[in-house]
Amino acid sequence: MWTGEGKTLLKPMRAMNEATTQVDRYQRLVLKVGSALVAPGDEGVSTQHLLGIARFVIEARERGREVILVSSGAVAAGGAAQDGAVRPGHRSIPEKQGLAAVGQPLLMAHWNRLFDFPCAQVLLTHGDLHERTRFVNAKNTLSQLLDLGTLPVVNENDTVATEELGVGDNDNLAAHAAVLAEADALVLCTDVDGLYDADPRTHPGAQIVPVVDEIDEHIYAMAGGGAGTQAATGGMRTKIEAAEKATARGIDTMIVNGIDAARLDALHDGTVRGTLFRRAETPMGARKHWMLHALPSAGRILVDEGAAEALRRRGASLLPPGVVGAEGDFARGDAVEIAVQANGHAAEVIAKGITQYGHRDLRRIRGHQSDEVRRILKDAPAELVVQRDDLVVMREG
Ligand code: GLU
Repeated sequence: MWTGEGKTLLKPMRAMNEATTQVDRYQRLVLKVGSALVAPGDEGVSTQHLLGIARFVIEARERGREVILVSSGAVAAGGAAQDGAVRPGHRSIPEKQGLAAVGQPLLMAHWNRLFDFPCAQVLLTHGDLHERTRFVNAKNTLSQLLDLGTLPVVNENDTVATEELGVGDNDNLAAHAAVLAEADALVLCTDVDGLYDADPRTHPGAQIVPVVDEIDEHIYAMAGGGAGTQAATGGMRTKIEAAEKATARGIDTMIVNGIDAARLDALHDGTVRGTLFRRAETPMGARKHWMLHALPSAGRILVDEGAAEALRRRGASLLPPGVVGAEGDFARGDAVEIAVQANGHAAEVIAKGITQYGHRDLRRIRGHQSDEVRRILKDAPAELVVQRDDLVVMREG
């Protein structure tokens, strides 16, 4: 807002979509820069928007903060280098993987040119996050890179991973990086002003939501579906998923329009000009968070309403009598979803946990008391199907 002598003189158009909120001081920041900023118009990497972003990174470091970049744009850079042979929107997954291999060094060279300190390339896949040893290795390396004074630049290892190239998204990767690095802030830098309360393309009166204290279905509904621009693989939905992961671990998450460098600069003083998703007051423990967000589910255990109630409200473990079914080919030690099926309703997922039984054994012992379980399965591995310590309840009642 432009003001003079305490009075508002003129309100620029953009201010309509602007809201400011203060955020606590942060020390370690993960900054995710989307393809729309790295490679605008799908013409390959460009400095058009990156100069302002680089200046922000330099100043943050000068102020004693640690910064990790998560940069998209490998596929876009590769596509442009191949002379646009395969146009965006028509690329198969193997083509995108090839283009990422061509583009990733170009992307790194591009970032390197903007800084006087070294950039360090960190390529991650989902496997690195859910396999505990690799998770710990990646965590140690990131911390080492910060100690060395480098700027880690993280991207998906697209040449070997297909999940992200299929559906998006470096937003979720950035949340994982923030958790790995034990950051206290995650900034999703994009080409929109924040989360709108309705789709601004169809609702001209849509307003930016300045602060989100709790992420629920209502917030997801605001995000709608699909990606904003062609170069970007993610959309608002993946940003909310990322915010859900990061805030649960105590990391403030922000969506900021990086085309307007002043909005990034405002972050130096803790002013968020965009949407702030406030961190959880009581962060989830590291192991439970990893189980819930990094471990993929191999199947699903269906439970009755009594068991669901005990899990949700009484902090109980899951016992065989409460199990009514098992879906998927999971083995002992796998992570599974736990869902309750109320009469005639679709199953609702209420928890995630590590199962002591594989799907075949579980189908045999479901609904039985423990003495019967031992009769049915002589070498029954455990009394409990899922122990409380191996269980994360999503919505405690
Ligand atoms: N990893 C992809 C790339 O660098 C981008 C994925 C995304 O933008 O979410 O091209």
